[in-house]
Amino acid sequence: MNSNEIHVIYGTNPIPMVQELLDKSQVIKNIDPGMNVALKPNLVVAKPSSSGATTTPLLVEGIIQYLFSHNIKKISIIEGSWVGDSTARAFEVCGYKEISRKYNVPLVDLQKDAAENVLVNNLSLKICKKALEADYLINLPVLKAHCQTLFTCALKNLKGCIPNSEKKRYHTLGLHKPIAYLAKALPVSLNIVDALNGDLSFEEGGNPVRMDRLILGQDPVLVDTYCASLLGYQKEDIAYIKLAEQLGVGQGDLSKAKIIEHAAELKKATALKPTNKAARLAKRIEAQDACSACFGGLIHALNRLEESGQLSKLKDKIFIGQGYKGQKLEGLGIGSCTSGCSKHLPGCPPSALSIVKFLESQCR
Ligand code: SF4
Repeated sequence: MNSNEIHVIYGTNPIPMVQELLDKSQVIKNIDPGMNVALKPNLVVAKPSSSGATTTPLLVEGIIQYLFSHNIKKISIIEGSWVGDSTARAFEVCGYKEISRKYNVPLVDLQKDAAENVLVNNLSLKICKKALEADYLINLPVLKAHCQTLFTCALKNLKGCIPNSEKKRYHTLGLHKPIAYLAKALPVSLNIVDALNGDLSFEEGGNPVRMDRLILGQDPVLVDTYCASLLGYQKEDIAYIKLAEQLGVGQGDLSKAKIIEHAAELKKATALKPTNKAARLAKRIEAQDACSACFGGLIHALNRLEESGQLSKLKDKIFIGQGYKGQKLEGLGIGSCTSGCSKHLPGCPPSALSIVKFLESQCR
C-alpha cells in the first residue's frame, strides 16, 4: 500500500474487520517471517474497551490470527500504562492476559523496561528498549478525545513507549512538542485505529461513543489528521499533528489522501444507547434508524459546538437516520438519508468536522 492511503471498514466485529483490512491493504508484503513484530495497543488505564478508554483485545486477536496464518510468529504485545496505573493490572482487566495465554504471545510491560536516549534535533528523549527493538511496530490506538490535547490517536499513543519518569517530564514540556518529537524518534510501520467506541471527552473513558469502524494507514500524521476530522477537529486545532508534519514524520494533507472504504454495507443501523454526556447531547437529535457511524459523528460535532458556546444558538430540529429516507422535513438533515430536509448535509457518513461546519452555519 502507499503511504497516502487510508483504509476504513465499518462494523461491530473487530476480528473479521481487521483481517479484511489487512488483506485488502496488502501490508503483509512488508513483513518478513523473521521480523520481530510488536503490537502496541492503548491500555492507558485498567478499564475494559467498553469504557471508551482502551483498545479492544479482539482487534489484537484478529491481527495475531492473521499474522500466524502468514507464518509470522515473532509477535509481542507491548504497553506501558499511565503513571498511577499498573500495566500488569491493565493487561489483566482489558483481556490481554487471556490472549497472551491463548496464542502464547508475550506481554511486555514497558513500565519495567530499560530505556535508551534518542536525540531529535536538540531534544533528548528516553524511549523503552523493547519498542525501539521492534522490526515492525504496529500502533493500535483508540480514537478518542483528550482533556489536555483535545484529541488522542496514533501519534499520542506512542507515549506508552516511554518510562514513567519521562511521561511526567512531557507535561513540563507542554506535551505537544515531545509527542511530535517522539513520533520522529520512534517510527511506526503501521497504524490500525480502534474507532469502535472511543471516549467523547477524556482519555480515561466514561463517555463512550460508538463510531463502529477501524481505520488503517501507514502515515501517523495522515491517520491523525483524518481521525481528528471524525471528532470535529482540523489538523490546525491539534498542535502536535502540525509539529509532527513539520518534523517530516508524515504529511497531513487530506486532499492528497486516498480514502478507501471497505464493506460499507456494514454501516447498518444498530440500537444506540448513549450514556452520560453523550446521552444529554443525544436529546438534541431526532434519530430514526441512524447508523452509529453517523450518529457518533453527530454527537462529537454537538460536543464541539457546546465547547465553543454555539450549541444554544442552534434552534432547528436535527434529523438523522435511514428512517427519514424519502421524507420531506422542516429542519437540518445530517447524512445522505435526510436529503428531504429543508437544509441538508450530504455524506454517508459525513465527518464530524463537516457536521460542525454545517451546524455552525445554521447558528443564529
Ligand atoms: S447517511 Fe444514512 S446510511 Fe449513511 S451512515 Fe448515515 S444513517 Fe447510515
